[in-house]
Amino acid sequence: MSLTPYDIIDTKKRGDEHTVDHMDRLVDGIMDGSIPDYQLAAWLMAVWFRGMTAEETFVLTDRMRRSGQQVDVSQLPGPTADKHSTGGVGDKISLILAPLAAELDLFVPMLSGRGLGHTGGTLDKLAAIPGYRTDLSPNEMIAAVGKVGCAITGQTHDIAPADRKLYHLRDVTATVDCVPLIVSSIMSKKLAAGPEHLVIDLKCGSGAFMRNQDAARELARGLIDTGTRAGRKVSAVVSDMDQPLGRWVGHAHEVEESIDVLRGQGPSDTRELTLVLVSEMVHLVTGETHAAARGRVEAALDSGRAYERFLAMVREQGGRLDPNDPVASLERAGEVGVLKAANSGWITAMQTAEIGRSLVDLGGGRVQQDDVLDLGVGLAIDVAIGQPVQEGDVLVRIHGRDERTAELARQRLQRAISIGESACAARDLVIERIA
Ligand code: URA
Repeated sequence: MSLTPYDIIDTKKRGDEHTVDHMDRLVDGIMDGSIPDYQLAAWLMAVWFRGMTAEETFVLTDRMRRSGQQVDVSQLPGPTADKHSTGGVGDKISLILAPLAAELDLFVPMLSGRGLGHTGGTLDKLAAIPGYRTDLSPNEMIAAVGKVGCAITGQTHDIAPADRKLYHLRDVTATVDCVPLIVSSIMSKKLAAGPEHLVIDLKCGSGAFMRNQDAARELARGLIDTGTRAGRKVSAVVSDMDQPLGRWVGHAHEVEESIDVLRGQGPSDTRELTLVLVSEMVHLVTGETHAAARGRVEAALDSGRAYERFLAMVREQGGRLDPNDPVASLERAGEVGVLKAANSGWITAMQTAEIGRSLVDLGGGRVQQDDVLDLGVGLAIDVAIGQPVQEGDVLVRIHGRDERTAELARQRLQRAISIGESACAARDLVIERIA
């Protein structure tokens, strides 16, 4: 008797384990349309309640990965490595990390996404560079990586298309927040993109998908387990997202901040997390100690070679940055408002997702997938948790196009940043490493 979608739903509803045949039938049915959305939705909800074993998660991931094109990185003349961030506010690390890792002789084919809601996407940041192409074909990407050592481009529609279909359904059936489904979604795309080594930057806190450390740890373990079963070397760094990363939130401004870090300036948290993640990549590839890797990574950043590599990557992808004054090529909105401290005290908490949403108020974020972004608006966050402030101090500088949207953003920011009466500790940036 042939396997029906009903049987698959019923198996999971009872909490039983799927066979490989179930997963084959499921992913085939997603791709050829023979399983209607209402049955897929019922299956998703059964998974949400019953979960999946590590083996089921791996098989689903593997089948979704094979539902589309797979990038062949074997032609590259050295070890391949990538970093995946689970998403946050002000996270511009990829722009610094890819050329820095390339400087350490790793080949970095990076497929990135666009932002949605409060999180920013690396592709949108790169789109703020005039002429920069984020639509390289897989062959063009591999050629660019072979030449420069790294490329950052968008994921084509051919990468794990089964995941795209399933994700749309998860989005409207309240089944996004389910660890095995998140693992299979992220890893199907990462495995299809090809790199042999992968470091996950697992963001944890009020601006992240994972709000607490236990949830972050569970997701990290799932991602590592599935990647390892697929024959890749994977590790994770859990990092703080209870406040934005760096000073700037906003696309062109984040490119500027990345250039600052590549030139030996910029905020210390952004520099530090980049060093930690690239050292982790080098450690995964070479097996050398983290301390030894870190020494080499720091030297490559401080020498300015990673900055030169960044300019080469931008040139290779059609971007036009004046090498003598790269920042002048970025269109950035001017300051149209500020948020000031309403009282004296200490910064005790930030609702970081709300800070991301105030960029959306300015026109710099997407509510719907096809929204057009204003890449020049931004927020300069001038305080961090644990910092003392006096009444009237500027907490955030709002760079926008008009006073109306600036006021919307200001009101949201005011609710998002808490000032308490007693001192509170600064937050640790790197929470733990999981391998
Ligand atoms: N990012 C993804 O790509 N998939 C998920 O399910 C969640 C975050």
